[in-house]
Amino acid sequence: MSHHPLPDNLHLDTLAVRAAVDKSQYGENSEALYLTSSFTQPDCETAARRFSGEEDGFIYSRFTNPTTASMEIRLAALEGSEACIGTSSGMAAVLLLCMALLKSGDHVVCSRSVFGSTIKLLGSEFAKFGVTTSFVSQTDANAWKQAMQPNTKLLFAETPTNPLTEVCDIRALADIANNAGAILAVDNCFCTPALQRPIDFGADVVVHSGTKYLDGQGRVVAGALCATQAMVKEKFLPVMRSAGMSLSPFNAWVVLKGLETLGIRMEAQSQRALELATWLESHPKVARVYYPGLTSHPQHALAMAQQSGKGGAVLSFDVHGDTPEAGRKNAFHLIDSTRLMSVTANLGDVKTIITQPASTSHGRLTEAQRADAGIQQHLVRVAVGLENIEDLKADLSRGLDTL
Ligand SMILES: *Cc1c(COP(=O)(O)O)cnc(C)c1O
Repeated sequence: MSHHPLPDNLHLDTLAVRAAVDKSQYGENSEALYLTSSFTQPDCETAARRFSGEEDGFIYSRFTNPTTASMEIRLAALEGSEACIGTSSGMAAVLLLCMALLKSGDHVVCSRSVFGSTIKLLGSEFAKFGVTTSFVSQTDANAWKQAMQPNTKLLFAETPTNPLTEVCDIRALADIANNAGAILAVDNCFCTPALQRPIDFGADVVVHSGTKYLDGQGRVVAGALCATQAMVKEKFLPVMRSAGMSLSPFNAWVVLKGLETLGIRMEAQSQRALELATWLESHPKVARVYYPGLTSHPQHALAMAQQSGKGGAVLSFDVHGDTPEAGRKNAFHLIDSTRLMSVTANLGDVKTIITQPASTSHGRLTEAQRADAGIQQHLVRVAVGLENIEDLKADLSRGLDTL
């Protein structure tokens, strides 16, 4: 049965495109995937009201789709925000944020340790349109305060950072932003709302790459911004409508279903990461471990307070290596000796991922820029998945024991 009963005596070719199972819109146990570009309007008057925004209703999937809306409602609920808007990728979320909130002559203060493409987008692309950005220390709130200018409109932070897991104090940055009438946006990709809710600490906007833990199984590229209803409706939605960095309903559906297991995945993956980090820290072939869950981490107390007592699922460590050449050789040996872990640029997957940041995610930096960022040749990053911890240790032991 279709939602609207079909007329009798239709021809086969008509039935082929019109006959369908009961649409029973609200009876489905798993959320429906509305893979449609546009929505039919019951009549012209209704269409006019919907197009003008006078009445809610689905129009066109560049800016309104029920599956995407389900994902947005679910993610907003998890982040404790009033509203959310899905985007085609994490970077599209950063782009939407900047397009919506900045204009020529404005200034941004951003951590210098944020995701590389965010640095490029602000430092190179938006610089072309007269937006200037000061890049400051991740961990020194005073440096953020000193970088503020009368035209500062946005503070952008990401915590913890990739790959060194540096943590910043969201509450301190929110106070700086508030006092200046600026917006604080926090990229919450690494912790997800399962561990950290930036809005609880005073952030105005939460930025997400849905590609990582929200999907959780490495299937789609997606993103989102969480904020107040007013900001989403009045600032973000109009830009989305004209610029079109839209989330595909299919990808929204994958993220929507991925969110169902977010809590248990983050819990289990964080627990494995802590166990692996603790084991690595006492390993004779490992020089240093970077993981917020370890008491040796410089911001351990802050991380525990901000991240529900958990370190997250990403850790990094230095193998030995007296020269950059020796460090690179040892890191490559360790990575190439693994047989379970995936050598790939992603993170946030249930499959454990291992990378050498210096030659991959941070490969476009000069040696001097990398040294400045603390990313040396002997650094190895592991985004811990859901495999058994003993199997993961054995996978790293293979290379570590033969260094
Ligand atoms: C991956 C990532 C992004 C970008 O997300 P995409 O979905 O790849 O565009 C932004 N921020 C952080 C912290 C990330 O790890």
